Amino acid sequence: MHSAIRQIAPESEINLSAAAGAPTLSPLGPAASRSAFCRYHVDTVEAPDIVHHPTRFRVKTDRFALLGLLLRELVHYRGRLPVVLARPCVYGVFGRPVGGMAPIHAKCVGCLRCTTQYPDVVQIHPNPARLRLGDSYLTPDHVDTILYEARGGRVPVRGAGYRGGFGGAGWDGMWTDMSEIVRPTRDGIHGREYISTVVDVGEKPAFIACDPRGRVIGATPRTLTLQLPMLLDVPPVAAIDRTLALAWSEAARRLETLAILPLTTILANHLSGAHLAPLLGPGELAALERLPSPPAVAFLDGWDAAAYAALRGRLAETIVGVRVPADADVAAHARAGVRVLHLVADYHGRRGGAFALELIQRAHGSLVEAGVREEATLLGSGGIVLAEHVAKAIICGLDAVGLDTALAVALQARFAGECTSRERALTLPRFEQPWAVARLANLAASWRDQLLEVMGAMGLREVRRLRGELGRCMFQADLEREAFEGIEGYAR
Ligand code: SF4
Repeated sequence: MHSAIRQIAPESEINLSAAAGAPTLSPLGPAASRSAFCRYHVDTVEAPDIVHHPTRFRVKTDRFALLGLLLRELVHYRGRLPVVLARPCVYGVFGRPVGGMAPIHAKCVGCLRCTTQYPDVVQIHPNPARLRLGDSYLTPDHVDTILYEARGGRVPVRGAGYRGGFGGAGWDGMWTDMSEIVRPTRDGIHGREYISTVVDVGEKPAFIACDPRGRVIGATPRTLTLQLPMLLDVPPVAAIDRTLALAWSEAARRLETLAILPLTTILANHLSGAHLAPLLGPGELAALERLPSPPAVAFLDGWDAAAYAALRGRLAETIVGVRVPADADVAAHARAGVRVLHLVADYHGRRGGAFALELIQRAHGSLVEAGVREEATLLGSGGIVLAEHVAKAIICGLDAVGLDTALAVALQARFAGECTSRERALTLPRFEQPWAVARLANLAASWRDQLLEVMGAMGLREVRRLRGELGRCMFQADLEREAFEGIEGYAR
């Protein structure tokens, strides 16, 4: 392990830095400075919405029909006003003193009991303001889910059961293998057994060479250990201001992961710390001199062989990654010596006509074929908007994912139409930094808990073993082909 790179490892793991007698740094957070084993935990705090969030339904009542109904019921219930005014909703939508004259839309769960019993009095409509949230990829339901997670860091649970589809396009065409047999022995959320979400970002040579005296010669592992397989990816450039930059930085520090920010943003806001990964273009290398200390990780924006060599030359202690389009030939980059690759798709998870599910498998597979998969780190951004997408992207071959639009939605961003391009402006409300940090940390905590659920159900004890475990998932298209191929009417 390189002396400048910190490793947080469970007691059972070998710390190569310590083995090599090299000093280790603990730049990432409080847990890092503790030498003994410490169970990772994300503290959550309540962080309510600061912008009104549209309700799911609008309850429309015909006031004259309602008055007639109330009069009839007053007679029927012998003048018991609270009973009469509360009907016909058991959820309290008509619970105000004026009852259905001013329904409480936020309490409506859409059970349709009222409109079934009194179709002439009550009608339930989807709220058009809610339908305008997100876009065709990040749907209003996704927005609801993300906001719920960001408010308190809780795992969304629907007591009425799952009402959605059991397959579909994109991530919905992939199912993870959940076994009830292993379930009771692998409960990571409630602490009965520890499940690790630690990942390493960096370069890991296939072997370590030693001289006759046992001293390590040649390449050594150079990794930064993160407590989460999730990075805070670059926010939309147009949305970056000082408050957002500080929130990104502080959230990454608290979560003990990385915040990828443009180098210019880091410099302009005087940010520092090993949790910051500057993103710079080939023409920005000279600006690195203005950083107070070399970063632990830096990303070159796009492949440029000369700039990559120059960057590695300037930052000898730094893990240098390259941000490439998700359909890039990663094996060619690996042959050029790159060991940290960040695949970037658009906000809908697409690049070159393919979706992230396929792009990640393709990149992972090509690194496996090139024989360097274990030496390299594969990151990916784009189209990851639900907790389950993190697990699925890792199963497809990523070591860690970059979060982008989900973080913006957690901060109550509004999309202006279809939001595919990373240049596209998202509208963020004005907020205080502590609120934003709490929301980002809450979202990460909720997603981590959901990742633990998936791994627990799969019987896996650490997320590093989840990477590329395609044998532990099923694809809808494959199953349908196996079941229906050759049957008349089956179409792929
Ligand atoms: S749909 Fe259900 S929850 Fe909504 S107002 Fe009617 S009865 Fe109440």
